[in-house]
Amino acid sequence: MENFENMEEPTPCIHCGEWFDLQDGYGSEKWHPNTTICDNCRTKEIKEISKDEEIEDLTENLSDAEDNVVRYRKRLRELGVLLTESKSEKWDNLDEEISKIYEEQSDSVGQDLTDVGLAAAEAFEYL
Ligand SMILES: [Zn+2]
Repeated sequence: MENFENMEEPTPCIHCGEWFDLQDGYGSEKWHPNTTICDNCRTKEIKEISKDEEIEDLTENLSDAEDNVVRYRKRLRELGVLLTESKSEKWDNLDEEISKIYEEQSDSVGQDLTDVGLAAAEAFEYL
């Protein structure tokens, strides 16, 4: 039970409903901007903000890392380094090869399919 006698300005916390002394509260950043919340809620809010920031940082770093992997592998291939490709990379490369074949607009449909078949066989190292 709250002890109102020791409080100068008893205030109900907008977040949890507990009473606190307004001078002991903290300005909420995320949950209730421009509103003072109790110490307990502020501590929980800071943890949540910190977690949000970590998730944002990690997501951004992961995205940068994935971009770098694609860029570095592409450049290494350009430099003639033979890299083992993951299955998804093989499919991505095959997709690119097939789209090139169809962009070239060959006159013969049969020839397109032969080229696609060859590209597929090469992509998965059967040829
Ligand atoms: Zn509270």
